[in-house]
Amino acid sequence: MKKVLAFDIDQTLNIAKTPIDDEMAELLLECLNHFEVCPISGQKFDQFLVQIVNRLKNPTSEQISHLHLFVAQGTQYYRFDKINNDWKKIYDFPLTDEQVAKISSALESSARELGLWEEDKLQPGDKIIENRLSQVTFSALGQKADTEAKYAWDPTLEKRRKIIEKAKLLAPEFDYEIGGTTSINAFTPGMNKKFGMTHLLKELNVKKEDVLFFGDMTSPGGNDYPIVEMGIDTITVRNHEDTAYALRGILSIIS
Ligand SMILES: [Mg+2]
Repeated sequence: MKKVLAFDIDQTLNIAKTPIDDEMAELLLECLNHFEVCPISGQKFDQFLVQIVNRLKNPTSEQISHLHLFVAQGTQYYRFDKINNDWKKIYDFPLTDEQVAKISSALESSARELGLWEEDKLQPGDKIIENRLSQVTFSALGQKADTEAKYAWDPTLEKRRKIIEKAKLLAPEFDYEIGGTTSINAFTPGMNKKFGMTHLLKELNVKKEDVLFFGDMTSPGGNDYPIVEMGIDTITVRNHEDTAYALRGILSIIS
């Protein structure tokens, strides 16, 4: 029996960048009665709150104590601190300012050269490149673009592969991977979901065999692939509906 259910977020628990729906919120709450539940994603901490935590209906402090947030691909880890009644950062591995600057300029000039720097399509106040502390994320249409436009931008991943190819020439000391619908994540080598999953195993004091992972980008080059490569049991989903289907199955067996 697995002890830990770990989840990619975008496209695995939700429609990319949006809060989980009522059904997923109920399923996750039920999972917290039986498993340690670990979302692990390139998103920032505040997005974990908006998209997952705030959607759980009246969780008990016991339930919330089994929720572990592996932020920015698990280079940051947050756990709920019952005494202070707030989330506590357990560890953090940030990039330096110089690293952030070098990655940002490599991504921007590569996208510009390819005609893929589409600043004119941004919503007011939005931006293409975001410093997520332990990684830099390029989102072609910004964070606030509507979902349909995002899906339509690069369904074959071709645009992002081209940007990565160029950026690698300019800043070869970093790793680049495709995530979400319009995103590229860049970070120091090894700071991918494998790093996060390795720390998860340590922090929760569990073995690889204890974990079941759900992700949508599980093929080589995808941001969930490093976890597959580790030999963690993985369920590949196309969307949150697949995940809900699998969770209903798991919960029906154990309850
Ligand atoms: Mg995903």
